[in-house]
Amino acid sequence: MYPLVGFVCKPRREVGKVLKKGRPSDLKIGILTPMPYEAAVSSLFMQLAYYYLNSLENIVAFRYVYDGEEDVVEALDACLNPKNLDALLISASFELDYPYIARILAGLGILPRKDTARPIVVVGGLSPTSNPLPLSKIADVVVIGEAEPILDKLIDLLGYSNPLSKMREEENLMTFPPEGLKRKALVRDLDNAFFPITQTHPLDEEPAYGHGLRIEISRGCRRFCAFCLEGHVSAPFRYRSLSRVEDIISKGLKLILLKRVIFYSLSFFDVPYAETLLEKLVSEGVEFSVPSLRPDYLTEKRVELIARGGQRTLTIAPEILIPEISCPIGKCFDIESLKELLIHSALAGFRHVKLYLMTGFPKEDVEVSVNAIGKLIQEVLKAGVRIPPNFLRLSVNLLVPKPWTPFQYLPPQHVKQKEGNLRLFQKSLGGKCVEVETHSADWLFAQALIGLGDARISNLVVELGVRGVTLGNLKRLIRELKIDELRYVKEGWEEPPWMKYLDLGINPKYLETRYRILVSNTN
Ligand code: SF4
Repeated sequence: MYPLVGFVCKPRREVGKVLKKGRPSDLKIGILTPMPYEAAVSSLFMQLAYYYLNSLENIVAFRYVYDGEEDVVEALDACLNPKNLDALLISASFELDYPYIARILAGLGILPRKDTARPIVVVGGLSPTSNPLPLSKIADVVVIGEAEPILDKLIDLLGYSNPLSKMREEENLMTFPPEGLKRKALVRDLDNAFFPITQTHPLDEEPAYGHGLRIEISRGCRRFCAFCLEGHVSAPFRYRSLSRVEDIISKGLKLILLKRVIFYSLSFFDVPYAETLLEKLVSEGVEFSVPSLRPDYLTEKRVELIARGGQRTLTIAPEILIPEISCPIGKCFDIESLKELLIHSALAGFRHVKLYLMTGFPKEDVEVSVNAIGKLIQEVLKAGVRIPPNFLRLSVNLLVPKPWTPFQYLPPQHVKQKEGNLRLFQKSLGGKCVEVETHSADWLFAQALIGLGDARISNLVVELGVRGVTLGNLKRLIRELKIDELRYVKEGWEEPPWMKYLDLGINPKYLETRYRILVSNTN
């Protein structure tokens, strides 16, 4: 049974589109972002791969997006069905992208995979890098690490009559069943890496994060928060030089005829010149938006600067307000200072402050967590400054154990056991000036199930995609495929299977030792 995923040609009115017809002999490469157009256009991988590949001789690259509501794959460039391509590059940010990818591939007749069939399906991203095994029934190849150093190699290998046999030997590419140890492809010097200064920019739709030039100012993070896959898998921390960033901004803004910059960074104020750069942009009348920030990196001056850059919602990620937990996990900050910053944000003109919170840490008393955030909210509301309606937006997540983090040893079942925490947050907080958004515990459990799974979980991923990515189907499949009987689901891994095949530069002893400390010392 195959899903009836539609395929339509839906080019948009865009600035920066590549007009390359290509020749019949050219390699035809698709770049699929399994998200709606408005979100996909914000994907720097899509922008990078589209411009880089189209700059090469003998290659022509096309973009595809997926509208989940309509269940339709949309071709943004030539009206060419992806099944007629030589290769399809898919970027997957999260584990829950995988069933959608399976659905798209099955619907287009590209699944099940056959050994030498084209298009070759190549999947990459942080989640696939951390654990490629759940993709074993979907992807022919998973890129381990970053795209820039591997794109040329991939293209070279696609020229062979049996590219997979060649790719199997590459140290940054994993094929299935996995063989040998694969290492992370890494850009050592971001200044010398290709960056898409020209970017496609929609004229009719509002993209995610708004209109503007997207720029990745840094990559990696030096903070290694214990729950954070991104921080661990994308290490080490690197940043573009100020002169390179200024060059990208001045050229890029001229091309899109806008005066707004959207910064991508895991750890924005770790970039030594970040504040100076924002000051310069403000003085030049260029607006900007910065990503979510650690509370300990914020000062009143920075809050004001961001407000003057035109941002209306400030996003801060304190995670938890219990120092006995927040410090060991890597998010140590002073709660009193956070309170002052929230008050100052209202004074600086922010309409909203979004707070990313996390619950479900080992030995956390959730009532204490909820009371701590409740107390903070009350103190902000009583500070005597005008607080706009729905000023505080709490986004509450459960701790989801991820590969290559110290929490990788927790079982997925841990997520299920903490479901009640979300209800308590919902019930206890909220009010005229506070909105509380919680995530579905079932989908967070599915995230852990897939993210921490081995090749066996790929069956669930494919079936969920084929039947339809709904909670009902997820629950039915967990029963039918007896997923609960897989040992790791309830007991976790002692020796996580992905570690046998990957070297991401993270010492396993660090993971084990930190996990033991977190489980025993977090009160
Ligand atoms: S600071 Fe943010 S990005 Fe960096 S490790 Fe911590 S949570 Fe992850």
